[in-house]
Amino acid sequence: MTELTGKLALVTGGSRGIGAASAVALAERGADVAITYRSSPDDAAQVVKRIEAAGRRGFAIEADAADAEAIKGAVARAADVLGGLDILVNNAGVGAIGMISELSLEDVDRVLAVNVRGAYVAAQAAASVLSDGGRMIHIGSCAAARVTSPGMTLYAMSKSALIGLSKGLARELGHRNITSTVIQPGPIDTSMNPADGPFAEAQRSFLALDRFGTPEEIAAAVTYLAGPAGAYLTGTELTLDGGHTA
Ligand code: NDP
Repeated sequence: MTELTGKLALVTGGSRGIGAASAVALAERGADVAITYRSSPDDAAQVVKRIEAAGRRGFAIEADAADAEAIKGAVARAADVLGGLDILVNNAGVGAIGMISELSLEDVDRVLAVNVRGAYVAAQAAASVLSDGGRMIHIGSCAAARVTSPGMTLYAMSKSALIGLSKGLARELGHRNITSTVIQPGPIDTSMNPADGPFAEAQRSFLALDRFGTPEEIAAAVTYLAGPAGAYLTGTELTLDGGHTA
C-alpha cells in the first residue's frame, strides 16, 4: 500500500522525458496510469511496460495535443477504461527558440496550440470527470518567471499562460477539493533540452546548482502534488530549477 494506491491518472505526452518519468513514478506509488503520445508509439509502449512492471494498469492513447477532439477523446477513454480519473498531468509540450523577428505566425499558432490550447482542452475535459479531491498538475517552465536570454519569448509566453489557467482552475474547482498547480522546471536533461546540447552551457551559467535536473526529479514533484502531502497546494507554482531563477 503506497500513497497513490487506487488512484487513476492521465499523463499527456507520457511517451518520453518528464511525462514518461512522471507516469512511471505515479505507477510506482500505486496509481493506474494512461498516457498520451503523438509520434513515439514505441517509446509509449515501453512506458506502458514500465507501468505494468510496477504492478499497475497502464495504456497509451495516440492523441495530438494540438487536436482538441483527440484530447477530449483521450480524456474520455482514460476515464472509461480506468473507471474514473483522479489526476491529470498536463505535460505535453514543445520547445520554441527563436527571436520574435524570426518566428512566423505559424510558429506561434503551433506552439500555442500544443502548450496552451492543448492544456486548456485537457483541463476542460478532465474537469467534468475528475473525482472530488482530484489533482490537476500542469508542467510549465521557470521561463515564465525569468527569461534569461533572447529567443525565448514565444516559449515563455506559452508557459506563462499556464499560470493563469491553473489559478483559474483552482478557483473554479476548489469547492470540489480539486487542486490545480503548475510545476516550473528549470533545465532538465531530455531530448527537448539535452544537457550536452548547443544551448546547455548558457543555461548552466544561470544555475545555482552546477547541473541540469533529471526527469525523475520533476516526477518526484508530480507524485508529491498528486499525493496526500500535496493536498493544500493550489493556485500556485512549484519551481524546481536548480536555482535558475534565484
Ligand atoms: P521531450 O521532448 O523529452 O518529451 C515531450 C513529450 O511530449 C513527448 O512524450 C512527446 O510525445 C509529447 N508531445 C510533444 N508534442 C506533443 C503533441 N503535439 N501531442 C501529444 N504529445 C506531444 O520534452 P520534455 O520531457 O523535456 O518536456 C515535457 C514538458 O516539460 C514540456 O511541457 C516542456 O515544455 C516542459 N519543460 C521542459 C524543460 C526541459 O528543460 N526539458 C524545462 C521546462 C519545462 P511524442 O514523442 O509521442 O510526440
